[in-house]
Amino acid sequence: MSQVLSCAFGRSPRPRSFACARLAPFRDPGSCLPLPGAFAQALPRYPLASQGDQALAFQFARPAPGPPLKGRGCTVGAMSDNQPRVTVDGAIGQIDATQVPRYGGEPTFARLPRLSDVKSADVAILGVPFDSGVSYRPGARFGPGHIRESSRLLRPYNPAADVSPFAVQQVADAGDLGVNPFNIDEAITTVERGARDLLERVPRVLTLGGDHTIALPLLRAVSAVHGPVAVVHFDAHLDTWDTYFGAAYTHGTPFRRAFEESLLDPSACMHVGTRGPLYDAADLTGDAAVGFQILPATEAEHLGTRGMIEAIAARVTDRPVYVSVDVDVLDPAFAPGTGTPEAGGLTSRELLAVLRSFANLNLVGADIVEVAPAYDHAQITGIAAAHVGYDLLSALALRKA
Ligand code: MN
Ligand code: MN
Repeated sequence: MSQVLSCAFGRSPRPRSFACARLAPFRDPGSCLPLPGAFAQALPRYPLASQGDQALAFQFARPAPGPPLKGRGCTVGAMSDNQPRVTVDGAIGQIDATQVPRYGGEPTFARLPRLSDVKSADVAILGVPFDSGVSYRPGARFGPGHIRESSRLLRPYNPAADVSPFAVQQVADAGDLGVNPFNIDEAITTVERGARDLLERVPRVLTLGGDHTIALPLLRAVSAVHGPVAVVHFDAHLDTWDTYFGAAYTHGTPFRRAFEESLLDPSACMHVGTRGPLYDAADLTGDAAVGFQILPATEAEHLGTRGMIEAIAARVTDRPVYVSVDVDVLDPAFAPGTGTPEAGGLTSRELLAVLRSFANLNLVGADIVEVAPAYDHAQITGIAAAHVGYDLLSALALRKA
């Protein structure tokens, strides 16, 4: 008999068959099912510090022997961490925080299962630790790990959206891609190939960067599936410049390259939250020529959140939408840990409200980029980025529900 424990999350306003799975026999916490291709080498292995966390977690919640639980094609007993998880209608969710404290256990996004531990997934979280395309402060290569570490406090139910994003859909962490820090062209190829491979197995991917260079190969992979996409680009910057120091592939140029490669629907793209000084007024005309409409940060106050939501929805309509969130769209007060901060940005409350509204859009992919933890304090930026991911996942869940 499978052992199923009642769970505090049964208090959810939406009655669901919440159950916390007590897992099958203890195995080596470091063991992990193999992943194909690039992901096998890319998945992080958790060395001494993290295994220490695991040892702590097992003190709190040593799994009881028993046969594996089954549900929705997933065999819970195959989990590499053997920790009690919140499972709902077969979706394998987070490590149960009522049994294992949030500061323990594996640092996957929101303490969700690894992709290698579920038979199928609706959404994969993919890390791209790459920042060789930056023009100012480096450090976004540490973004994926920082966002994951900052996501430990995310809970199963999102009251603002009235949805449990890890219950309505199976979300899993695919680990990091192994990208070359010394060769941008090769790195771009690796990201494109990794994203294409992943999209053959999982319909939606949420990528954690990494600098904004990675949006180009991610858009190549997404548009190969969906055709040219409407990009809703949250950023202080346009990122449609041509070259920088003669280089075509940088974190300030991905959307111009994407336009040139016909990855975008130029009748439906939009920048949100741009601000700050430009090189020249011609930057704006050049930007309009590649298909972007601008909703600058200065308009956010006049339009309000509702006006921003309506403006975006009117621009993209029912087209396939790719959302790219450069965390510097937030004011440095809300996101100090980034490479090119600009004063006068959005609040995290504004950004999250707008993202939640994307439940009404045909969201086909998203990224969160430019989180640079060396400039972060008290995880301010990491927590904001984790919540950006949570509300994007909630929007996907609402669309699916
Ligand atoms: Mn930016
Ligand atoms: Mn950017």
